[in-house]
Amino acid sequence: MVSMAAKKQMSESTQLPDQVADSLDIAASLDLASPVWAQLRDLLRDHLGETAYRRWIEPVKGSVDLNAKGDSVLSVSAPTRFMRDWIEAHYGDVVRMLWRKLVKTGDVDFIVASPLLKPIATVQESIAMSDKSPVAAALPQQKAASFPSLVTSMPQGSPSEEAALDPRFTFENFVVGKPNELAYAAARRVADTEAPTFNPLFLYGGSGLGKTHLMHAIAWQIRRNFPNRRVIYMSAEKFMYQFVRALRYKDTVSFKDQFRSVDVLMIDDVQFIGGKDTTQEEFFHTFNALVDRNRQVIVSADKSPQDLDRVEERLRSRLGWGLVADLHPANYELRLGILHAKAEKLGCAMPDKVIEFLGHKITSNVRELEGALNRIVAHSQLVGRTISLEMTQEVLADVLRSTERRITIDEIQKKVAEHYNIRVSDMHSARRARAVARPRQVAMYLAKQLTPRSLPEIGRKFGGRDHTTVIHAVKKIEELSAYDNTFREDVDLLRRLLQG
Ligand code: ADP
Ligand code: MG
Repeated sequence: MVSMAAKKQMSESTQLPDQVADSLDIAASLDLASPVWAQLRDLLRDHLGETAYRRWIEPVKGSVDLNAKGDSVLSVSAPTRFMRDWIEAHYGDVVRMLWRKLVKTGDVDFIVASPLLKPIATVQESIAMSDKSPVAAALPQQKAASFPSLVTSMPQGSPSEEAALDPRFTFENFVVGKPNELAYAAARRVADTEAPTFNPLFLYGGSGLGKTHLMHAIAWQIRRNFPNRRVIYMSAEKFMYQFVRALRYKDTVSFKDQFRSVDVLMIDDVQFIGGKDTTQEEFFHTFNALVDRNRQVIVSADKSPQDLDRVEERLRSRLGWGLVADLHPANYELRLGILHAKAEKLGCAMPDKVIEFLGHKITSNVRELEGALNRIVAHSQLVGRTISLEMTQEVLADVLRSTERRITIDEIQKKVAEHYNIRVSDMHSARRARAVARPRQVAMYLAKQLTPRSLPEIGRKFGGRDHTTVIHAVKKIEELSAYDNTFREDVDLLRRLLQG
């Protein structure tokens, strides 16, 4: 008789698109890279012109992989961080648009190809599959020289920067203020003490508030304090991906062994396992096994344990057993602190006026704040202009426009309904005729783009729809915009109208 769990496993693994299964074959994903990347480069040359192409695209490398959803993810790796930021800020949209044209559904990551990341990669890759697995057998084995206890490691399916520890994400570089002091103190405690005082540590907060930064900082610090401890840091998405791969290669035993033999397990963005039943179950068992043996588990998510969508009750309650620490959006004081620290790190003279201006204007999250600062510095370095308030306003004109006026969902619905000549009530209605459904999707898409509202909040504003409907709408509009210029212009026009 097949057990329930086994059945579940089978159904979850067979639901995966064939592409995902194929992506498990690493050799195949590498073969894929060159022709599509070459095609994309040609398109970019046409789009950007020879000079920009030479300067920004030629020096970067592209590699392609498939993520767990089966989308083709292009990693564009630039030789320096500055270049990565510049390319993403200026050409990110074009690259994404053209990429989707080529591969239908896909995404693009802009990363830094830094040799600094290498030794750390071996820390997480220590959980690599057993060398008896067919994939491992086909690949050259690497010796993890700096970690004698980690005998072998294997390159993972997706060698993206996301999986590696970022050398910038340390405690030293983390600016502490009221909104994040609890999370910071808890992170330090976990990293500095031998035996777990609270298990698990659950860090949560909105996007761009420093969860990943703190997780990496913990990993760095543990490595410094207790070099013999085995630490695994990975995203929940990657956890699932590897688990599915283990299922496929009937290698779950070594998967389990390797996870359960670590001293510290860190899983980032655990909300991702919502709805993935088999992965949740595996995670739950791994979690219990580690906590039972007094090993530290650290988890991050965008919501508190109790609010995690489509996560089983027993796991939600288990996740809340240790210390739950939330990160709040940075207040003005913290924003100033972060700006000062980052400007100093970049080694550039920032007038106080500019720092205060940014601190007042960019309130959404730290990532945006950092992005704005980087843009100003990049601009000043490239054109040799001194940083001033005037220059800042000019360079950030687009960002500032959207933050200056708080656009509401009601406004968006009204404007979009007007534009397509439908009733505002159709934004909430259950009618599915294309003539109203498409404008409704456009409005959902704009709500996601122009307001800080979460997907469930947006869904509620559209007649109590589910957040997955909103995700679908966003995807649909992105897809249509990529193929259909008239449609894209239409949506852009609406966006400009709303941004005033
Ligand atoms: P999250 O994982 O919560 O979405 P990240 O940890 O990726 O956010 O943080 C986004 C960016 O903001 C990172 O570059 C990070 O270094 C920076 N950041 C966030 N909080 C702080 C802080 N308190 N001090 C310094 N940098 C911060
Ligand atoms: Mg994160």
